[in-house]
Amino acid sequence: MQAGSDAATPRAVDLDALGDRIAVWARELGFDAIGVADVDLGDAPQRLADWIAAGRHGTMDYMARHAALRAAPGELVPGAVRVISARFDYWPSASRDARAVLDDPDRAYVSRYALGRDYHKVLRPRLQALAARIEAEAGPFGYRVFCDSAPVMEVAFGAKAGLGWRGKHTLLLSRDAGSAFFLGEIYTDLPLPLTKSVDAHCGTCRACLDACPTGAIVAPYELDARRCISYLTIELDGAIPEALRPLVGNRIYGCDDCQLACPWNRYAHAAAHPDFATVRHGLDDAALPELFAWTRDEFDARMAGSAIRRIGHERWLRNIAVALGNAPSSPTIVGALHSRADDPSALVREHVAWALARHHAATSGRTTPSAARPVTGMPRAGPPSATGRAANGAPRKRDDVA
Ligand code: SF4
Repeated sequence: MQAGSDAATPRAVDLDALGDRIAVWARELGFDAIGVADVDLGDAPQRLADWIAAGRHGTMDYMARHAALRAAPGELVPGAVRVISARFDYWPSASRDARAVLDDPDRAYVSRYALGRDYHKVLRPRLQALAARIEAEAGPFGYRVFCDSAPVMEVAFGAKAGLGWRGKHTLLLSRDAGSAFFLGEIYTDLPLPLTKSVDAHCGTCRACLDACPTGAIVAPYELDARRCISYLTIELDGAIPEALRPLVGNRIYGCDDCQLACPWNRYAHAAAHPDFATVRHGLDDAALPELFAWTRDEFDARMAGSAIRRIGHERWLRNIAVALGNAPSSPTIVGALHSRADDPSALVREHVAWALARHHAATSGRTTPSAARPVTGMPRAGPPSATGRAANGAPRKRDDVA
């Protein structure tokens, strides 16, 4: 019974046995791991409050507006005493090698989590189905499912539930699966048995801090979203700060660098589900001019069912204009930019003008766009293994980024 429905009356059930069965059902529904946490978030709400007070959430005003709800699960779902946290692996093993695309400045880099179907559409019905199975066994109970759809501190709950630990890059990280997974939650009033948290294993490593192209991980466990390329290319509604544009490189939607650098992502799992294993529209290795030529209708049609669609055509063009400005000068690249020099969007026109000015400077011998890209020479973990294992960061798992 969804929270907010009439009063729930669960049957008398063996909660230990029910917890075991929930884990089995979750597997049957395609989840790769599951855990159960209580609703005491410890110091996480204070860290979130400090992060917001420091302005590190940028323009994500909803983070500030909903901070109280994030901190108090009982406010979001009255009577909630447990959070079932579920992991769903997404690494698309059939995609072109991530580092090779990042090092190929004519190509577009799309965060690997976004190459397949919109994860909300995959996870949410499965969470709902899991809740329905629990209800069939236990009788009506209070619950609500979440998948990046409400103010939920998913990293904190995932860590409490034993799905991993919060890495220095602020994402949830597992010894067995790295960080290339989505999270979903079920808040419930059933007092299910808790699963154990796990120890952190970052140790003295700081590979993710050193690898971040923009220095957004300002200290271990502290992300300044205003510098994060995932924020700049997905969340930010407006101009990308000029000082950061050269550092964005060819990343047009999200960024995976902190995850690619993380040694634990050698153990990341290839997606088993075809919605994530299958790359849509060749987005793992597309040429920048080709994507820049998409009309609004083409963008809407091709990105239907993809998480990318929510940024809209204007931000899409803005991001690609920046990447084109960072690409080596060629008639194809400069021609693509000229094709949108008079774009109806002032935002797009301004980014195109910036990019063209860089190419003009490059061909005048003053500098080269590609020479300004700081993406080489960073310490890296090994490439994805032959089994397709590797490491995106996405804002969705950065809900509790403080
Ligand atoms: S790269 Fe190193 S410090 Fe960063 S999350 Fe991975 S193990 Fe932790």
